[in-house]
Amino acid sequence: MPAEMDRGFRGVPSVDRLLSDGRIQQLEKVYARPFLLRAIRQRLEEVRLAIAGGEAAASFDEIAESVCALVESMAQPSLHPVINATGVVLHTNLGRAPLSREATASMEECARGYVNLEIDADTGKRGSRLVHVESLLCQLTGAEAALVVNNNASAVLLALSGLARRKEVIVSRGQAVEIGGGFRIPDVMRQSGAKLVEVGTTNCTYVSDYEAAITARTAALLRVHSSNFVVLGYAESVTLEGLIELGKRCGLPVLDDLGSGCLLDTTEFGLGPEPMLQESVAAGVGLAMSSGDKLLGGPQAGIIVGQGALVDKLRRHPLARAMRIDKIRLAGLATTLLHYLKGEAETKVPVWRMISAPVDEIEGRAQRWCRLLGGSASVIEGVSMVGGGSLPGSTLPSRLVAVKGRGKVNRLAEQLRRGSPPVIGRIERDLLLLDPRTVLAEEEDSLLSRLRSLQLS
Ligand SMILES: *Cc1c(COP(=O)(O)O)cnc(C)c1O
Repeated sequence: MPAEMDRGFRGVPSVDRLLSDGRIQQLEKVYARPFLLRAIRQRLEEVRLAIAGGEAAASFDEIAESVCALVESMAQPSLHPVINATGVVLHTNLGRAPLSREATASMEECARGYVNLEIDADTGKRGSRLVHVESLLCQLTGAEAALVVNNNASAVLLALSGLARRKEVIVSRGQAVEIGGGFRIPDVMRQSGAKLVEVGTTNCTYVSDYEAAITARTAALLRVHSSNFVVLGYAESVTLEGLIELGKRCGLPVLDDLGSGCLLDTTEFGLGPEPMLQESVAAGVGLAMSSGDKLLGGPQAGIIVGQGALVDKLRRHPLARAMRIDKIRLAGLATTLLHYLKGEAETKVPVWRMISAPVDEIEGRAQRWCRLLGGSASVIEGVSMVGGGSLPGSTLPSRLVAVKGRGKVNRLAEQLRRGSPPVIGRIERDLLLLDPRTVLAEEEDSLLSRLRSLQLS
């Protein structure tokens, strides 16, 4: 070992010496000793590794300060808010739908104490937690019955397990898809114990393909919305009505995995069409399934609506208990559904506020942010996306703040991402792009102070 490195190692302070330092003793008033010891040992290990790597030994003060910084950061939850300036409204990695003020207020209220989750106020007897959303979902979609579980992946797994275990389910080859995050229809099918019977080809499937595959073992016909991709060119698929008509003739329910679970008509907002829950119900599906936190704009949940007898069967399935939703999300979902019932979703549900934001309003905000950044930024025309595995290929015209990267665009993006609160933008060519559409009004002040701190030059 070189003499210098040896001196370096010998200079590394002991745990006891650090524990007797005034700064660390201050921390000991707040944090438990084992927690402090873990931080000290971790930092000392890092110091030794740095010396072994040929770096100069850190001074005692530097080490003590860095232990304090580590303790403070370990004492913060690692999950925290970020500002989404990507322009992707339903960004799966950023937690999908932000919730309305009313929804978060009801979640907080219900989290704080006890709630009437499963108690019937009239009789005092045990009730079902689902009553808090069932009639809302039925009113909004026209369905006979409704059930809510952990997420849409669970909803699909529950429906297949409950209705088609050891039986066959027919799916078009074009719909045996992967939604992302490991959700693949063939895998979910296998997990449920149902046998996948694929019919047609990747681009073309006809009613006659389904019909020819129906046997005495067939339990259902499944439609899966191709949420996150589009097929262009020569393609043919069976309409939901066509599938339901065949199901009726053969006594088979149609299970419809819609993905997003929209309750509003996306075409009224200049977007492509996205299947709506109420349309599936009106068409006569056995069950329609969707997410709660995509275009519905609520908390994570899996929504199942449809025929009473089928929903009942799922409700009694043991998996339903394993997938059940908690009181907090139930509260947020109920309040979100109420926005739709009151006809105020477009103004109250953040996802729809963002989608329906007028371009001149976005332009005004972009101009304001831009002024702060001086000559290194400009407002450009661009697009926002809905994202979250919905409306692929559909964009919304927007105005973006484009910050010139001058070859350091990744560093700029990192600076914004690493500060507090973190700001996430997107990079295109040598530009850092910030889209006001997905930044909430109440986040604007902190965003502006983050922009002010940007080291441009
Ligand atoms: C997103 C999606 C799912 C999974 O929904 P989660 O709520 O994320 O579990 C399943 N099916 C389709 C078609 C989807 O788009």
